[in-house]
Amino acid sequence: MFNIHLAKVYGFCRGVQGVTEKADRLLAENPDRPVYSIGKLVHNDVVVDSFSRRGLKVVDAPDGNPPGIALIRAHGIPLSLARSFEEAGFTLVDGTCRLVKANHDRCASSTRPVLYFGIKGHAESVSTLSHAPGWYRVVETEEDLEGLDPQQEYDVIVQTTFSSVQEARLLSLLEEEGIRFNRLNSICSASNRRRQAVLDLCGICDTVLVIGERQSANTSELYRLACSRGVRAFFVGDESAIEDGMLSGHDVGVCAGASVSPHQVDRIIDVLVEKGGTLKA
Ligand code: SF4
Repeated sequence: MFNIHLAKVYGFCRGVQGVTEKADRLLAENPDRPVYSIGKLVHNDVVVDSFSRRGLKVVDAPDGNPPGIALIRAHGIPLSLARSFEEAGFTLVDGTCRLVKANHDRCASSTRPVLYFGIKGHAESVSTLSHAPGWYRVVETEEDLEGLDPQQEYDVIVQTTFSSVQEARLLSLLEEEGIRFNRLNSICSASNRRRQAVLDLCGICDTVLVIGERQSANTSELYRLACSRGVRAFFVGDESAIEDGMLSGHDVGVCAGASVSPHQVDRIIDVLVEKGGTLKA
C-alpha cells in the first residue's frame, strides 16, 4: 500500500498542446493528402506513435516522399530545411512554439556574437541558431566558455528547456571571468512550473516516477532535479515500464514532462491504483 501524489503541474505545455492540435486538424481536414511532421513532433514516442497510427508520417527530408502538408514541430526546424521542403512542393504549416520563435527572433536580430546556452545538437538549438546572422557558440558546459574575448560583449540566449541550475552556473562563470554579456531571455515558464512541481513532490515523497523520455530536455531535467533531492527517481515511458520494485516506498510522486499527454498520465495513475496505490488530493 502506498500513496500517490500527482505533481501540481505536469504534462503538455501550451506549445506542445498547440502543435498536437494542429496535427489533429491537418489529419482530419486532409484525408486524401499526405500529412508529414518534419522530425518527431515532440520528444515522446507514445505521442508520436499514436499520430503515426493515424497517418502522420515523420520525415527528416523531402527526398523520396510525395509532396503534401508538412508540419513544423514545436522545437522548430532550421531555415534551410524549411526552404528545401518548400522548393520540393510541400505546403508548410508552422507548429513552432511561440516561445521558441521568440528565441529565433532574438537570434536573428542580435548584433553581437551569440552565446547560446543549450544542448548541442538538440532540435531547438539547431533551429534557433540557423537564424544567427553572425558568430555564435553553443555553451553546454563550463569548458565551452573557454577562449572568449574579454574585449568583446556577447548576447546570451538560453534554450527554453535548458537546466536552470546550469544556466545560473554559466552566468556566474561569465561574471567571474569579467566577460560582458546581455542576457536576452531565460528558460520558459512552462519548464519552470513543472520543475517547481517536482521539487514540491520531493518534499513529501520517497519515490518519484517521471513520465516521459530521456531524450526530452524537459523530462530529463525533472529526473535530474528529483535525483538531486535524494529521492528514488525512475523514468517511465508508459505503464508497461512500471515495475513493482519502484513502488516499495510509502509516498510515490508522479510528474510528467511537457511532451506527455494527459491520457498517458491517466493510464499510469490507473495502473498505480491497481497495484495498491491511493491517489491523494
Ligand atoms: S516547453 Fe516551453 S518553449 Fe518548449 S514547447 Fe513548451 S511552452 Fe514552448
